Amino acid sequence: MANKRIGVYPGSFDPITNGHLDIIKRATKLFDEVIVLVAYNSSKANNRFTVKERVEMINDAIKGLKNVRCEAYEGLTISFAKKNHANFLIRGLRVVSDFDYEWSLAASNEFIDHDIEMVFLMAKKENTFISSSNILELSLMGVDVSKLVPPKVNEYLLNKNKKSK
Ligand code: ADP
Repeated sequence: MANKRIGVYPGSFDPITNGHLDIIKRATKLFDEVIVLVAYNSSKANNRFTVKERVEMINDAIKGLKNVRCEAYEGLTISFAKKNHANFLIRGLRVVSDFDYEWSLAASNEFIDHDIEMVFLMAKKENTFISSSNILELSLMGVDVSKLVPPKVNEYLLNKNKKSK
């Protein structure tokens, strides 16, 4: 297809939540192809799940969706986007503090490359309190988070809890 609209949705996805998944599903309606990108930096070792685990959980969550795939990449997200002929970066916005962070990220991306367009999707009302770190914390404290994450993630979280006991 000529001029395919390809969007990259980068993040830590540590782990993927229903908030992320909602953004992915909505993005698939806007783009011909969406690439969920687990962007990582091996010098920052404070991750909760390994890159492999995160990719596995995402692949399971997106298995019913047609125009999405998941990849992992260490390095500049913009370099990944260019290599994959993507001109759009997708991000989600929950609260005002997200806006602050995304604003400087967008400015920095624009400095690196003028051709990349950032597309922001507002979180659904019911997802505004969901973050990967919040989910992990709640789960470790014994709260049932199965309504907030894809089933595979819930499995991983329950396993993690067993190991930490
Ligand atoms: P990062 O570490 O790059 O912020 P995250 O995995 O935390 O990566 O988030 C990736 C993107 O998804 C960010 O734009 C973030 O604002 C957005 N996001 C995170 N949680 C939600 C949610 N519950 N609803 C909508 N967007 C979200």
